[in-house]
Amino acid sequence: MQFCEVLVFRGVPTLYTYSVPDTISVVQGDHVDIPFGRSHCVGLVMGISDGESDRPCKPIFSLHEKKTAVHPELLSVISWLYKFYRCTPHQAYQTVVGNKKKRLLPPEAPPVVSTDSDPLLTEEQQAAVDAIISDHGFSEWLLYGITSSGKTEVYIQVAKAMLARKKTVLMLLPEIALTPQFMHVFTERFGSTCVILHSGLTPKYREIAWGRIESGQVQIVIGPRSVVFAPVQNLGLIVIDEEHESTYKQENHPRYDTAEVARFRCEESRASLVYGSATPSIERYYSAIQNRIGLLCLSDRIFNRPLPKIEIVDMTTQMAQNPTPISSVLHDAISETLALGEKILILVNRRGYAPYISCQKCGKLYACPQCQLSFTYHHDMSFRCHRCDIKVPVTHTCPSCQKPHLSFGGTGIQKIEMELVKRFPEAKIDRLDRDTAKTSKTLEKILKDFKSDGQILIGTQMIAKGHHIESVTLVGVIGIDTTLNMPDFRSPERTFQLLTQVAGRAGRGDKLGRVFIQTFQPDHYAIQHAKTHDYKSFYTEELPNRDAFLYPPYSRLTHIILSSLTEKDVKIHATYLAKWLKSVAVVALGPTPAPIEKIKNHYRWHFLIKSLPEHHEEVKEKLAQLPLAPKSVRVIIDYDPKSIF
Ligand code: ADP
Ligand code: ZN
Repeated sequence: MQFCEVLVFRGVPTLYTYSVPDTISVVQGDHVDIPFGRSHCVGLVMGISDGESDRPCKPIFSLHEKKTAVHPELLSVISWLYKFYRCTPHQAYQTVVGNKKKRLLPPEAPPVVSTDSDPLLTEEQQAAVDAIISDHGFSEWLLYGITSSGKTEVYIQVAKAMLARKKTVLMLLPEIALTPQFMHVFTERFGSTCVILHSGLTPKYREIAWGRIESGQVQIVIGPRSVVFAPVQNLGLIVIDEEHESTYKQENHPRYDTAEVARFRCEESRASLVYGSATPSIERYYSAIQNRIGLLCLSDRIFNRPLPKIEIVDMTTQMAQNPTPISSVLHDAISETLALGEKILILVNRRGYAPYISCQKCGKLYACPQCQLSFTYHHDMSFRCHRCDIKVPVTHTCPSCQKPHLSFGGTGIQKIEMELVKRFPEAKIDRLDRDTAKTSKTLEKILKDFKSDGQILIGTQMIAKGHHIESVTLVGVIGIDTTLNMPDFRSPERTFQLLTQVAGRAGRGDKLGRVFIQTFQPDHYAIQHAKTHDYKSFYTEELPNRDAFLYPPYSRLTHIILSSLTEKDVKIHATYLAKWLKSVAVVALGPTPAPIEKIKNHYRWHFLIKSLPEHHEEVKEKLAQLPLAPKSVRVIIDYDPKSIF
């Protein structure tokens, strides 16, 4: 008699065994209708085995016809995911395949003729390509190449070699915003064998794209982190471009790290995994230095173009002379650049107009009632909480003392935009942030407009990543101190990365680029090393800080977050968990209120566990036995968190 292991579409922690009646034929990956408890539900057949017919199992009802079968490759990803991140099998299923419907076989896409013309690779590019393709088994590489050193060309040449071996390629990007640019370059070189996949596409397009991937009509899939689950077969290569970006970590359950999933898939398929970055994460560079992964370097810009010249503007002096958010040197540089007909990027990593609303009479902050963070004034006449995503009408009346003395302080991106419009009324100025680019369509349009006839583009970190616009010769950075002062051990690293990346947008064409960084901490090592484009010195100076406080790469972190609408419940459970952790000999910092103490009315407490890398598995196994929380308290375990707020 046949039995099958079924992943049940319910929040249960394990698979269930069912018997298969002789009248039904099922294979691995089929969906089935099953009895579950006293009800019915759908399940996915993860495995099939033969056994004695007297096993006490319920029989499956029938095949479930409305969903297409899941490929064996993805079945193993699902199994790995729920075990690794300790989520339910059904959550893993939803993460990997989403809402799977029956797909019609899509029409063949019309062939796009590629105008493939390979440039002559530089020596370093060629060496990188050769190293990667000479390894036919599972291999892992860090491609550390400065901005505009031609990393994309390396990806293209390796992908070509893989296609020649009849293998498939997943090209991962940190943001949907970068997909059009990459898709354009890749279609030029590979024609219609590439497809984009991301959540911003229409459901119909997505269905078609999935169908084309599943049926083997395309060999290259391009898109953000979820592309790591694309149903390709014969995987040969996964590229994670801008590997240091925190968007590769999913921030809701299961909180997977794309690199971990990619490593699993590449190991299974004996494929190559390439991490690319001009500013690798400290952990990744460390593992390359330790020889755990291969290190490939591109140390010059293409055509030996010089890196832009970076100037640090000390805002303490500027503010003493003339309090203004745009320093006079930056102002003058903008005028000069405009006069030359060249383009300008201004980074302001803070949304809205004014981030502090406080009363001039009683001194109280006007804070979001659900989390206590100050509201931010937005120019559409609203106060918004960036944490809870709530919006209230603007007012001048202080909610505490009822006097009309609320003042709007601090500098957000909209204020800088207004200021630039005032100072340069003739210039064509656009703004790119989450408020102007709500969909991937509007985002694409803003970038396209800037590339054609725009002159100044003001943006949040969205503008820093990967964009290749040759006529940008000036980059200004305003308010970087907000990033540097975040209470997180990775703040210097993030600051260095952001500055280096945004500076890398300047001077990618024939003309030399210039960069002005305004800051109140001109001597900070993250800023000083960014000024000299010196990743290695930054790394060397940062590493001892990590060692001193046992942070990654010297440890693996596990973050346990408890939240509840009732403060008392959260505290009681946190105290209880503290005792439990002690009883199983897990050393944890905490419990303490989390740096973000309240979000959307939920009180938050947390624990941080720093374990030596060799003990991490053991900690995970212990945490698998974590006692259940009462209904009113939610407990989240985040393995290898990218932020510990
Ligand atoms: P990165 O990703 O390292 O920032 P890109 O891949 O965007 O850099 O390359 C920068 C520019 O150099 C692109 O316009 C690209 O087409 C061009 N390029 C890359 N490799 C070569 C090469 N070997 N010869 C000529 N141009 C190249
Ligand atoms: Zn709030």
